[in-house]
Amino acid sequence: MTSTVPFVSNGAATNGNASKQLPTTISEAIRARLIESGVSFLANDNIAEHLQPGDLVQLEREVADKVRDLLRTLVIDIDNDHNTHETAERVARMYLHEVFKGRYHRQPKVASFPNVKQLDEIYTVGPITVRSACSHHLVPIMGNCWIGIKPGSRVIGLSKFTRVADWVFSRPHIQEEAVMILADEIEKLCEPQGLGIIVKAQHYCMKWRGVKEPQTSMVNSVVRGDFRHDPSLKQEFFELVRQQEALLSS
Ligand SMILES: [Zn+2]
Repeated sequence: MTSTVPFVSNGAATNGNASKQLPTTISEAIRARLIESGVSFLANDNIAEHLQPGDLVQLEREVADKVRDLLRTLVIDIDNDHNTHETAERVARMYLHEVFKGRYHRQPKVASFPNVKQLDEIYTVGPITVRSACSHHLVPIMGNCWIGIKPGSRVIGLSKFTRVADWVFSRPHIQEEAVMILADEIEKLCEPQGLGIIVKAQHYCMKWRGVKEPQTSMVNSVVRGDFRHDPSLKQEFFELVRQQEALLSS
């Protein structure tokens, strides 16, 4: 049942050092490219810029092969078990195109517009659903996120915050870093005068395994620009989020 990966070397790793081993799989070829470019490819980094057409098709096959090996190593009879027969293919698709798509796919297009009316009142968007996975166990992190903005020179549509958040969270993460990465992306997109983000999430590595605490959640926030320098603005942001939460439970 093991399929072979039709990898064709594109010569990415053939330059220079003759003793360097040629990549034999597409994941090795991509890794060689990333190392050559000097970019980081941690679990919560996006590597889409370094992928070439057709890479993801080959990578999906390679990941499926490895998941199949994992299932066999777990002594699951995938040849006779109708339930797990195609699990490897499903998991590969799910990782590359759904739950970790924020690593392999480019950021959704977000148009920004000049802030012609010079709006400078703060507003919040939320709750935005957080769907992520912890880098330590690859099990879900589920929760909500609120974004507060004091507009700067450019503005983006409300729904765009949801799209960018989904893209950022769809990677293996730890919550503290996820919030920082989301803040960086939003700052790049609309250069706000002030930015605040709050994430409240439940970690299935605590609910499902480990200490098995089903109600524990983690809350963290980041504040930048005017939200950081002006305590009253920061307070206003947290108050607006409290009101949005109250609306939900009323
Ligand atoms: Zn974990």
